[in-house]
Amino acid sequence: MFISVNAAETKAVGERLAEKIQTGDVVALVGDLGAGKTQFVKGLAKGLGSTAVVTSPTFTLVHEYQGSRLPIYHFDFYRIESLAALRAIGFDEIVFGDGVSVIEWADRFADAIPPRARWIKFEIVSDDQRRILF
Ligand code: ADP
Ligand code: MG
Repeated sequence: MFISVNAAETKAVGERLAEKIQTGDVVALVGDLGAGKTQFVKGLAKGLGSTAVVTSPTFTLVHEYQGSRLPIYHFDFYRIESLAALRAIGFDEIVFGDGVSVIEWADRFADAIPPRARWIKFEIVSDDQRRILF
């Protein structure tokens, strides 16, 4: 458990996780709107050596960033309406592939998330405080 008091700290937590990430890893993020999931992904992508501008996937449904060691696939299940839509964007191929997958709102389709995933929960404590649970 970690208490973050600003967005930079949440990014730093993501950046630190990058050191432990290996090929095929899946990072499943849970938490309300504004809880800091996207900030965390920004740090994670940076830590994996990507210089890309990280934003939540909307119309494209998945963003790909090139890390120094691995490609990073960024999903946001908030935008995905059904399991069929998820399959249609090739989720299974990606998530069981060799990159790193990071998924916002992963609990929306929890059954699609492989058992080996690391689940991280974000809770809003106050305006600037977030509780991050691993
Ligand atoms: P989510 O992807 O979970 O919807 P975002 O990461 O997009 O959330 O947004 C989090 C918002 O909350 C940002 O506007 C950010 O500046 C703000 N914020 C304030 N305090 C924190 C904190 N401790 N950690 C992360 N974000 C914070
Ligand atoms: Mg987000």
